[in-house]
Amino acid sequence: MKKLLFAIVLASSFVTAMSQDDDQPQDTAWKHLYRATATRINDLVHTKLDVSFDYDKAWMYGKEWVTLHPHFYPTDSLILDAKGMEIKEIVLVKGNSKLPLKYSYDSMQLQIKLDKTYKAGENYTIYINYVSRPNELKEQGSAAITDAKGLYFINPKGEDKDKPIEIWTQGETESNSAWFPTIDKPNQKTTEEIAMTVPSKYVTLSNGLLKSQKKNADGTRTDYWRMDLPHAPYLFFMGVGDYVIVKDHYKNLPVDYYVEKEYAPFAKKIFGETPAMIGFYEKITGVPFAWPKYDQIVGRDYVSGAMENTTATLHQESAYQNGRQLVDGNRWEETIAHELFHQWFGDLVTTESWSNITLNESFADYSETLWDTYRHGVDAGDAHIEEDRKAYFRNPADESKDLVRFYYQDKEDVFDQVSYPKGGAILHMLHHYVGDSAFFKSLNLYLNTNKFKSAEVPQLRLAFEAVTGQDLNWFFNEWYYGNGQPDITINYDYSNKTERVIIDQTQTNSGIFKFPLAIDVYSSGANKTRYQVWVQDKSDTFYFPSENRPSLVNVDADKVLLCKKTDNKTADEFEQQYKYAGNYMDRKEALEYFADNKLSNLATGLNDKYHGLRLFTLQKIDQAKGYTVPAVLSVIEQIADKDPNKLVQAKALEILVKLNDKKYEPLFRKYVNDSSYSVSGAALDGLTKLEPEQAYNLAKKYSNDAKGKLGEVVGRIVMKNPTEDDFDLMLENYKSPITSQEEAAAKIRGTTTFADYLSKLKNNEHVKQGVNEIMNFRNQIPPSVRSLIDPRFKQALSKISDAKRSEGNTQLADYIDGLLK
Ligand SMILES: [Zn+2]
Repeated sequence: MKKLLFAIVLASSFVTAMSQDDDQPQDTAWKHLYRATATRINDLVHTKLDVSFDYDKAWMYGKEWVTLHPHFYPTDSLILDAKGMEIKEIVLVKGNSKLPLKYSYDSMQLQIKLDKTYKAGENYTIYINYVSRPNELKEQGSAAITDAKGLYFINPKGEDKDKPIEIWTQGETESNSAWFPTIDKPNQKTTEEIAMTVPSKYVTLSNGLLKSQKKNADGTRTDYWRMDLPHAPYLFFMGVGDYVIVKDHYKNLPVDYYVEKEYAPFAKKIFGETPAMIGFYEKITGVPFAWPKYDQIVGRDYVSGAMENTTATLHQESAYQNGRQLVDGNRWEETIAHELFHQWFGDLVTTESWSNITLNESFADYSETLWDTYRHGVDAGDAHIEEDRKAYFRNPADESKDLVRFYYQDKEDVFDQVSYPKGGAILHMLHHYVGDSAFFKSLNLYLNTNKFKSAEVPQLRLAFEAVTGQDLNWFFNEWYYGNGQPDITINYDYSNKTERVIIDQTQTNSGIFKFPLAIDVYSSGANKTRYQVWVQDKSDTFYFPSENRPSLVNVDADKVLLCKKTDNKTADEFEQQYKYAGNYMDRKEALEYFADNKLSNLATGLNDKYHGLRLFTLQKIDQAKGYTVPAVLSVIEQIADKDPNKLVQAKALEILVKLNDKKYEPLFRKYVNDSSYSVSGAALDGLTKLEPEQAYNLAKKYSNDAKGKLGEVVGRIVMKNPTEDDFDLMLENYKSPITSQEEAAAKIRGTTTFADYLSKLKNNEHVKQGVNEIMNFRNQIPPSVRSLIDPRFKQALSKISDAKRSEGNTQLADYIDGLLK
């Protein structure tokens, strides 16, 4: 699963804020509640489903034939998870006869008494006739998934004309048992077949292969999907809707993309790297893609970022991008890589418990780095690892959490910045310590040993130990079963032809770490000697012979250590580091130092070979107003006209806009029609600042195709004085996806502005659409945070309903007031 980053960030910052100023007694019982792996009394063997849908009631009618057997000890009973269902019949199937079984049901679990005691491996099949009613189910959602209904009917009655009618499911963690009775635990695996009866205008998607389709007399069609390889119940999936299926393939493997018609022309641009990714992941793991096909589908109002259902990955709407958006880069590429890698780590070998979720999520996170490195170069991969580390450090409370956690309040809590980015950064260290070949050989052994089964972290360690021949308990104890990271201070001293490097560990929330470290000692220019040392004490001093004072000592020379660092280098040494040490983090650290301490050196980064560092340099120059230096400005002017990367070019244009200088008008005119929304938006911003009286008309001229930066600029101008005709634009602007905490906060503020606008509209259909979009955004916010933000939403909505009530439109006013009851 890939969460909505902003949801996680919002949740953690709010939860932190809450726990600080809350004098209520906290429920801390969970801190003493060991989360054992689910006991396997019965094992799932096969699950056969026959389902149809009632769109009016948002119900699903289900028939299930589930085959199980006792795991080891004989048993005469069975417990199945079945959330919020109406159970009509439960019988034991014996050949052609049905034997009614005694059962009790508490709306969460079925306790079934079998007809006799069954022995280990002795199969039996139960038939259950039931109704799934997901909207009547109440369960606490999570930061990653904002609800836990399992089965979702989107716009089922077609009341929202702008939204397609869809059905999709979301199983992780234990929500699929809201639409079929099962043992809803990750350490269960079952083969699957499913017959879905749907209105014949729709297409369906599920796990495995579509084996047959049958038209029914009542205008429906029954699609029969079958999955002959066992997988965990949380990975079951159904999708139904009016999709175009864009066909692609990897060798003989079908790789299809299910998208709305509007995005069909872009489907291969959005998802088209998937075959290459499959080839790449097969190559590095040495394990062929295990499943019979790989499809991806986009769901409206999806409650998380994306989900790796076996052979049927579900993405949220942010995956949709048009041709112009893609010019700025495919914002969904890493998510596509992430979910695909789960088909190995998660689906083929599955974590046996949520405590071990790192076996799924840290690998999926790290797969993004591996793909970035392969496709976009080492700098891109290193930049991803840097993002991982920053994401982990964003919430100080995360530093006290172990990667493998047997104590947690809610199983959803483990889907956090520790299991994902910190875990990714930890795998990057492990990769580096054991070496490329050993790393991938170990993954190969782990996958082949545990395929179609579940695993816990010791099985990963054993695979690495078998391949490398080394005891790796030290690494796993520190990084998997321990918390935090080294906080190190590095000092240098040269005397008597000896360079001393003193490394102090200053962390207080975890013990002293033991770790290997590469130290490069430079005599001059690029001439260096590499030393390998082990740090293991609160303070370690290392001695290196050197004829003269070294021009640079580069500690953690490959920049692989996950740490907080105070590195007491001089400006000269950072200059040497930028020039000669050369990897992404070497250059980034130097540029950060220049930005804070030696602005005159910062402009070096404008010519960096990696676009991300050129962008970073421009941002820092912008913040420090360093563009007033003529030599720096002339480089920025060149970048604004020539940089091959659109985001860098746009940032340079943005800086020129601030100068409000007529001489840039030709440049802005040249780029205002650029295919990139970022570049064209920056250029439009420039033009409208030069001629403020033309701003509204200019903005309107570009408004019919304005997303991203262009949408922001157009929106900002139009928003100053919006008319009824600007509704589509205002709505589009409000809808733009959120990718950071800042954007989330801005959108929460923007909700008030948007509501003010809506309160003035005469077109009630527009008002309703706008209000629904506000609710859409509100529903994406995790429940734990929602209650804190809801007063803002209430205030915004009542402004609109008050306006409607005063116009005498009681019906609409009541509708709005009812939304947040
Ligand atoms: Zn994931």
